[in-house]
Amino acid sequence: MSFSTFGLCPQILEAIAEQGYKSPTPIQAKAIPAAIQGKDVMAAAQTGTGKTAGFVLPILNKLARGEGAQANHIRALILAPTRELAAQVADSVETYGKYLPLRSTVVYGGVKINPQMMKLRKGVDVLVATPGRLLDLYQQNAVRFNQLEILVLDEADRMLDLGFITDIKKVLALLPRHRQSLMFSATFSDDIRKLAKGLVQDPIEISVNPQNTTATTVKQWICPVDKKQKPALLIELIRQNKWERLLVFTKTKKGANQLTKYLANDGLKAAAIHGDKSQAVRTKTLEDFKKGSIKILVATDVAARGLDIDQLPQVVNFDLPIVAEDYVHRIGRTGRAGLKGQAVSLVSADEFKQLTDIERLIKQLLTRKLMDGFEPDHNVPESKLDLRPRKPKKPKKPKNLNKPKTGQQTGARSGGKFSSKSGGQKPGGRNKTRATNSTAGGKSGHKKKRPTRP
Ligand code: AMP
Repeated sequence: MSFSTFGLCPQILEAIAEQGYKSPTPIQAKAIPAAIQGKDVMAAAQTGTGKTAGFVLPILNKLARGEGAQANHIRALILAPTRELAAQVADSVETYGKYLPLRSTVVYGGVKINPQMMKLRKGVDVLVATPGRLLDLYQQNAVRFNQLEILVLDEADRMLDLGFITDIKKVLALLPRHRQSLMFSATFSDDIRKLAKGLVQDPIEISVNPQNTTATTVKQWICPVDKKQKPALLIELIRQNKWERLLVFTKTKKGANQLTKYLANDGLKAAAIHGDKSQAVRTKTLEDFKKGSIKILVATDVAARGLDIDQLPQVVNFDLPIVAEDYVHRIGRTGRAGLKGQAVSLVSADEFKQLTDIERLIKQLLTRKLMDGFEPDHNVPESKLDLRPRKPKKPKKPKNLNKPKTGQQTGARSGGKFSSKSGGQKPGGRNKTRATNSTAGGKSGHKKKRPTRP
């Protein structure tokens, strides 16, 4: 199959040819014709499948015809969860639309709003935005939606994980009802389907990857090791395997900084990318990594989310992610568009539960390799694949603290001093962990609900 079968305009075909794409990826083969027909689309696709072109190409094709955007108006809106992803999608819009007379721009939080307002003044055909900053711009009358023809929600699952549901609903309420909507998500959970109800109408559903599987082109293995030995082991692996370019994931910002320092002390060109770094620094670091002047990029999950780095052969999980789904996202950085990739996880005994959660999610046991000189004192137990559905946790019985103690049993269970002390829901559950990893910032009245950066 070739791109010319879709009926895309010649300017788009020329830009695609320049990228060297020979044929559409499976998601493109399904999403592009559906979107060109004007249908709403719900597509399950991870990063690395070519999904961005899957929605950008039909958008450009649609906008190539028709009136340009009026002052402060936009014709297509692409919502993305993080600044980095928004910037990358905007790059794709520029790349594929370079021979079309369309205006596009990207807006996200964490940088000055005024230059973004200026860019919107003349009107833009394609706006890529993170939800918070978009709402800020709307409140300042910098953007209007009356001319909007098409909406894309990219990485919808991540949007929900990051706690953007309220912002998304606010945005949806502002958009014209008569529009085309495309929704892309790595997985279709019940929450995503609920969100989809208010977003897409009679959609065509597309799925190219079985849910939560990792790209088959990625070779995955783990290295059991004691926690303290991880930095030295990483250096040993880099040396032995002669890894030239790699992306390393750490759980925390602090961990990313410490590891970067350790690697640099050993003469390795490394830099960290996370939410405490200014946008300018993050952009520059990414550019340096793409150019090759930085060989090792140490990143937290959300900072790395959606990073499109061509031909990245190597991903290392220095720490395993707390949320198993993040493993799939991390691995998605490599083995893109059919390239061969390798993903190595350094696993210490305290990460056993995370390991089994991951293996359960991807429905396979990960191969183990012990490295000479790094055999752990604290053993990582052998895991067994348990694919039985998990029982949902029983909700805790509400404690009625006002109720007077009547009898031994009641007092011991609910009325006592000790039980009331420990009775509150502890923070740090799954949602909390993920919510603290947001990067798409912006200031406004809804700030309180917005999570902090990673
Ligand atoms: P995405 O999943 O949109 O992040 O895209 C992943 C990578 O695949 C990007 O580097 C794209 O440039 C590349 N890509 C997208 N479409 C194609 C295609 N049809 N053929 C080859 N590479 C592609």
